[in-house]
Amino acid sequence: MNIAILPGDGIGPEIVAEAVKVLKALGLRFEMETAPVGGAAYEAAGHPLPESTLRLARAADAILFGAVGDWKYDKLERALRPEQAILGLRKALGLFANFRPAICYEQLTHASSLKPELVAGLDILIVRELTGDIYFGQPRGRRSAPDGAFAGSEEAFDTMRYTRPEIERIARVAFDAARQRHKRVTSVDKANVLETFQFWKDVVSDVHKDYPDVQLEHMYVDNAAMQLVKEPKKFDVIVTGNMFGDILSDEASMLTGSIGMLPSASLNEKKQGLYEPSHGSAPDIAGKGVANPLATILSAAMMLRFSLNQPEAADRIEAAVKTVLAQGLRTPDIHSEGTTRVGTTQMGDAVVNALR
Ligand code: NAD
Repeated sequence: MNIAILPGDGIGPEIVAEAVKVLKALGLRFEMETAPVGGAAYEAAGHPLPESTLRLARAADAILFGAVGDWKYDKLERALRPEQAILGLRKALGLFANFRPAICYEQLTHASSLKPELVAGLDILIVRELTGDIYFGQPRGRRSAPDGAFAGSEEAFDTMRYTRPEIERIARVAFDAARQRHKRVTSVDKANVLETFQFWKDVVSDVHKDYPDVQLEHMYVDNAAMQLVKEPKKFDVIVTGNMFGDILSDEASMLTGSIGMLPSASLNEKKQGLYEPSHGSAPDIAGKGVANPLATILSAAMMLRFSLNQPEAADRIEAAVKTVLAQGLRTPDIHSEGTTRVGTTQMGDAVVNALR
């Protein structure tokens, strides 16, 4: 099992070190090789995704990624900014399926901004299409408006588009995932207004014919945004396009209390995957030893399950995380009265001890 370790910037190296420690404690054989990415790679090699890092990532069974970015790179031209590394990896490896589970751990029910009864036991999975939609559609740009009430004025435009195979493959990913869960899929669209999403809805319905054991419902994105805060537990798997998924998955992440708890996985057709916490590089707390490493540790568990075919090891890590939370250990982002405040390294050590 070949893992590329890309720690990145800010808190990235601190939290990835804890996940690596946990992986090593499993007693399995991994080949791990580390390479710079993001701002760290720009400093070392003049590019956020150097050819050598991309080569390592391509050759690996899975990539464990920390986070990239820092305000000090904001003035760089777009192509050299750290965030381009993650977009470059998604594109180069064809990572079209993004999984973001939003699970509210029993011990953290009170950390959510919603009432505890609304989030207790919450366990939803957002499946976001990651390589299409308006984020990648061509043409795009700025020009003089060719028509309309403001013809001749300066305008900007993007293109929303999806092909049938792109929708079919993400729909299959969602239906397959639902089969391992509660067998319910909510497909989120804006079919009442957008041609692209009427097509999305039609194609998802077509694919559903192969999954008669899974229940499918269609929901408009504005309603889905509302239902996620009104009654989040009614969802099982949500599948949607790139832009709607971007927004809804961040909304869902906050239901669980802290972004420091949320893992994610991005997979391609070969099940090769990039695993990373849902949060960024948190430059405000970098180097202070207070970052929550649990999202990264849980991302490593997803890696074992989805790309490395080690579901028992994934279960062990997830159980160990529950144990440390039950022991009352908390990094500052999830700390509350009556619990024990710990730092990044102590949290990683506690997970390792719980594994044993
Ligand atoms: P962020 O997620 O880095 O931080 C938001 C807030 O959450 C901060 O207060 C931070 O301290 C806190 N936080 C985040 N992770 C935490 C953790 N593990 N433990 C405790 N607290 C945590 O988002 P931001 O501040 O908007 O962005 C910072 C940088 O990260 C930017 O350069 C941005 O572009 C980049 N970014 C990168 C990724 C990625 O690498 N995939 C994703 C999002 C943002």
